[in-house]
Amino acid sequence: MEFNVGKLMRSAIKNFQPYQAKDYPGVVKLDANENPYAWPAGLATQLYEQVRFNRYPDPEARVLRQKISAYTGVDVNNVMVGNGSDELIQMLLLAFGGDGTKTVVATPTFTMYSLATEYLGGQVVEVPLVNGCKLDVAGMLAAAADPQANLVILCNPNNPTGNTFAPEDIRAIIAGTDKLVVLDEAYYEFAGASLVSELADFPNLVILRTFSKAFAMAGLRIGYLLAAPNITNVLQRVRQPYNSNSFSQAAGALALDFLPQFQSQIQQILRERDKLVSFLGAQNLRQVYPTDANFILFAPHSGAKQLHQQLLDRNISIRYMGNLPVVGESLRVSIGLPAENELFMTALAAVI
Ligand SMILES: *Cc1c(COP(=O)(O)O)cnc(C)c1O
Repeated sequence: MEFNVGKLMRSAIKNFQPYQAKDYPGVVKLDANENPYAWPAGLATQLYEQVRFNRYPDPEARVLRQKISAYTGVDVNNVMVGNGSDELIQMLLLAFGGDGTKTVVATPTFTMYSLATEYLGGQVVEVPLVNGCKLDVAGMLAAAADPQANLVILCNPNNPTGNTFAPEDIRAIIAGTDKLVVLDEAYYEFAGASLVSELADFPNLVILRTFSKAFAMAGLRIGYLLAAPNITNVLQRVRQPYNSNSFSQAAGALALDFLPQFQSQIQQILRERDKLVSFLGAQNLRQVYPTDANFILFAPHSGAKQLHQQLLDRNISIRYMGNLPVVGESLRVSIGLPAENELFMTALAAVI
């Protein structure tokens, strides 16, 4: 018998390109929006003292969920933990999307929403942002009104544009639809704006957060979701029992004990961001997008891809975004350590 793996593949993934996170070892890494600072002193030591590796993790992640509950002010029964918020996005699509349904997104935005939708057999409906920064509320609501649309996903601050949306626009979308509205607040700690305090007002609202960005734990894969129990109860059906490992649960819980130290790192990142924003504003670029997050999107007049390569040749990795809807060919730089940002500015000024 001849074995043909292609014949066995689900049709949804037949023409599918896997997500490729490029890794360039040994470079100044300004391409993944991570917190560049070392963990606060004492965190790692306490972590190793606490974790018992021979036991299965708490399947309910109770300690971490309690800490998240105290941090967000949301009842612990409304908190779910995931192996990164990427896993929670997948769980949302497994439970509510895919299979011929539609997911409405405001583009350009985080690609994981469309990836998970498409590999599960759903369809993405893109509603372009007005000028690359404002929500088209009427357009989003019209798309959400399609009987096949189950999910609307918003990202605030938005990746890759960096800006926050007007809260009244976000509220208008949540209140104007009976579909699930997922609000990804991965960069909340840099922007300060959140709808968490209004979660109880909106039965269809799901908020996503992560420890990957402000809390410097991208390598540990800790995301969380906040929503009413009738929503989290549905998500439980598609959750792997031990989706969050002991080490990551303990790390996330401890991170919240070190909140003041992380807050001072965030302040340093924001000061560095202001420096980079003024620097980029003074360069000969087509566009620098306003940002409330720890990264900046910008577009050169031409040759974004070459610019990306020229920086890489100087050992600096930023993200080439390709040809984005509304925005066009563009680049995204994450805020690094002060010395890394200096290297980036010097290199960019030299090659532009
Ligand atoms: C980085 C990022 C995440 C975080 O994903 P994790 O899986 O928690 O690391 C989620 N949403 C957006 C928009 C992001 O940029």
